[in-house]
Amino acid sequence: MSSAPAALTGPDDILRYDYAGLTAEFARRFGKGEYHAGALFRSLYRRGADDPGPLPEFAANPSLAAKVRDAFAYSLPEISGRSGDGETYKFLLKLRDGYECESVIIPMRQYKSLCVSSQVGCKMGCTFCETAQMGYLRSLDAGEIVAQVMVARHVLKEPIENVVFMGMGEPMDNLDNVLQAVRILSDQRGLNIGQSSITISTVGHVDGIRRLAALAAQPPPEGFSRLRLAVSLNAPNDEVRSRIMPINRQWPLAELKAALLDFPLARRGDFLFMEYVLIKGVNDTRAHALEVAEYLKGLKACVNLIPYNPRLDSPFARPDKTDTADFFHWLMEAGQYCRVRGTKGKDAMAACGQLGNRALKRNRAPQAAAVVIPAAG
Ligand code: SAH
Repeated sequence: MSSAPAALTGPDDILRYDYAGLTAEFARRFGKGEYHAGALFRSLYRRGADDPGPLPEFAANPSLAAKVRDAFAYSLPEISGRSGDGETYKFLLKLRDGYECESVIIPMRQYKSLCVSSQVGCKMGCTFCETAQMGYLRSLDAGEIVAQVMVARHVLKEPIENVVFMGMGEPMDNLDNVLQAVRILSDQRGLNIGQSSITISTVGHVDGIRRLAALAAQPPPEGFSRLRLAVSLNAPNDEVRSRIMPINRQWPLAELKAALLDFPLARRGDFLFMEYVLIKGVNDTRAHALEVAEYLKGLKACVNLIPYNPRLDSPFARPDKTDTADFFHWLMEAGQYCRVRGTKGKDAMAACGQLGNRALKRNRAPQAAAVVIPAAG
C-alpha cells in the first residue's frame, strides 16, 4: 500500500519541523510567516494534504506555493509489511536507507493507540526482548517517528488518539528526536494528540529520566509537564534485574528510585507506570511481589503487569493465567496499585517485546532504497 503522490517534492523532510520551526523556515527561506506556514501545517497534519496550492492563504501567491513545493518533502515511507490477529496489527515502514521500523495499532474502547518505535533495533540488551536480539542499527529522526503516526492516521485511516513509545528502541537513548516528535504530535493545530495521551517508556535510563524531569517541571509549549512516563521495572531486586536487564548494572534500583522520587507528576490523578513483565520462574513469586511493593513505597506508581510473551527461541516461559492472577493479588494485598495488561497481538509477534526483524540482524547493511521523488504536478 502506498500513499498518494506528494506535492512537496523538495529535499527537506517537512515532518521534522514543529510549528515554530516551520514558521521560522518560512521566514528564512521565503520571507513569509505564520500565516502561510500555519496554513500548511494545519492542512498537512489534520487532513494529510500537503499541497499548499489549493489553500486560500496561498491563492494570491502561486509562486510561493511553487517555492514551498520545491523546498520541502512529504513522502511517507512505504508500508512494507503488515500482520496482525484481527484488530491489533503491526505494520512495517521502509525507511530512506532501506531499514524498517515497526509500529503496532492497538484498539482501546473509544479510540486506537499507536505503539511507535524510536530506533531501529536497540542497545539495551534485555534478555527477554525480541528487539534486543537484532542489536542496534540506528536512531529514528523526529520525522520518521511522526511519519508512523501520519501513516496510521492518514493512510490506514485509524483513529489514533494515543501514542506509546513502547515499540523498538529506547526513547531515552534518542531523547531529542523523541521530544521533537512529541512537540509535533501534540500540537493542537495539527494531530492534536495531547501530551497526557503520550507515554514514554524507558528501560530505566536514569540520565534520561532526570533530563525529562527538568523539562516536565516547565509547562507546555516549552515544557513537557503532561507527558506520561513508564518505566520497565521487570524485577524485584538488583540481582534478578541485572541478570535480565544489563542497564541495571549501570543504574541500579536505588539510583532509579531516587530519580523517580524527583520526577514531577503534574496532576493529582497522575501515576508513574511501572511495567513488570512477569516471567515464569524468574520474577513471579510472592516474595518477589512483596519486594516490588516495598521498592515502590513512596512513589505514586501503578504497576502494569505484562504476562511475558515468548520471543523467538525464548529461554523463558510464559506464566500461566493463575500465576499472573496470584502476582496481582500479592501486590494488591501489599498495598501496591496494579493492573494486568492484556497481551493483544501475540500471535502476530506484535506484542510487547516481540518487535524485531531477524532478517535485518543477519544483513546489517541493507541496500540503500532509491528515494523516489514524484515529479511536481
Ligand atoms: N525500551 C523501552 C521501550 C520498549 S519495550 C522500555 O524498555 O521500556 C516496551 C515494553 O515491553 C517494556 O515494558 C518491556 O519490558 C516490555 N517487553 C519487552 N519484551 C517483552 C516480552 N517478551 N513480553 C512482554 N513484554 C515485553
